[in-house]
Amino acid sequence: VQEKLNLLKDNTHNTVNSLLTDVALEQAAKVDTKIANGETIGLLEGIPFGIKDVYMLQGTYATASSDLLKKYKSAYTATAIQKLLDAGAIPIVKENCDSFGHGSSSENTIFGAVKNAVNPELVGGGSSGGSAVNVAKDYTVFSIGGDTGGSVRQPAGYNNIYGLKPTYGRISRYGLMAYASSTDCVGPLAKSVEDIRIVLNAMSGKDTKDQTTYTSETIEESNILNTSDIKTVGYFKNFIESEAIDAQIKNDFLASIEKIKAKGIQVKELDFFKSDILVSTYYTLAMAETASNLSRLDGTNYGDRIDDKDLKESYAVTRSEKFSEETKRRIVGGNQVLSQGFSDEIYLKGLALRDAISENFEKDFEEVNIILSPVTPSTPPKIGDSLKDPLAMYLSDAYTVGFSLGQLPTLTVPQGTETGLQVTAAKNNDELVLKFANFLK
Ligand code: GLN
Repeated sequence: VQEKLNLLKDNTHNTVNSLLTDVALEQAAKVDTKIANGETIGLLEGIPFGIKDVYMLQGTYATASSDLLKKYKSAYTATAIQKLLDAGAIPIVKENCDSFGHGSSSENTIFGAVKNAVNPELVGGGSSGGSAVNVAKDYTVFSIGGDTGGSVRQPAGYNNIYGLKPTYGRISRYGLMAYASSTDCVGPLAKSVEDIRIVLNAMSGKDTKDQTTYTSETIEESNILNTSDIKTVGYFKNFIESEAIDAQIKNDFLASIEKIKAKGIQVKELDFFKSDILVSTYYTLAMAETASNLSRLDGTNYGDRIDDKDLKESYAVTRSEKFSEETKRRIVGGNQVLSQGFSDEIYLKGLALRDAISENFEKDFEEVNIILSPVTPSTPPKIGDSLKDPLAMYLSDAYTVGFSLGQLPTLTVPQGTETGLQVTAAKNNDELVLKFANFLK
């Protein structure tokens, strides 16, 4: 723990929002005492981990990398984090990310752009960029990110590690700051399938504080080692034939497909919605939900307030000055699609498309066990470049957002390339995703 804290102190890649030195040393002392008393310790006991700065951990900063919450301290602890604490894991750092999860590069932050672990001139990816880079650099053993439309999978791909978005509802969202509540997922990032499995098991389960959670079975190691029941995989033809895909990513993906075929697996081409439909559906719904969720942040109950002549003006000035440009763009967009005269035309259409996307997945999974896709159509941009063109940044989420809308379990498997392979299964089939990741090894 001390060694990792020392490494993080230098903050070489802008991954650190705050160090949890006191909490960490206190937890570590408990584990030391257990060892000294000759007690057996659990798998996660004493393991240092990082937390994206959108989770509550009582008494510590929870800034969402935003100006508005930069001095806010958590009043309670998130269920997922509490479960890790109960298992003896040791939180050491709150990690830099795009503010409120808004972004794909971890540049929308007051703490400075996160640098990519492989090439520091490139972005770390986002929004859970700090979490991915910390794992990749061995500053943490695992980190807990949040994935609404790709924020665990994409930075995992950019930094060549594993990152899982579990089935929606498998892990409680209580204590995760809400971005788009209908797709927000708690997700672990780590360097091995085994670590992902252990951390997923520790965090999963029904929680009375999040009514979308359900009871799931523990995923046993022996179950994911036997891969003989995987017979058929599919991929979306239009993702690979799209003009937007980088040539190298396409070649790497097709090479992976050939390897899988050579191992005796049947591969099917599948039809799917075009990328621009997926991206516009996702952003319509995500912006609507975030506009609603962030309406509570007016400087009264949470964060800093700028006082003005009356309450209404104080709200307006606080929100105008303390939300980032990207966050304001989404709040304005979200309120627009929800407003009278627009909601039927835009928001309700978004909901209908989401149903159609889910139906498409259901049909696909009658034919195949697993759907494969590249994580992103493009490689990580240079720091500074994606800020110039928000629309291009939204489009770079083309391959991750559909699976989020479908609430499916989906994992980035590193390929030693600039972005990984995305492995997706039917709802509640997180075990199969991990199994396939083992099959790929
Ligand atoms: N890049 C996507 C967005 O900005 C996904 C972010 C996320 O999953 N938090 O909405």
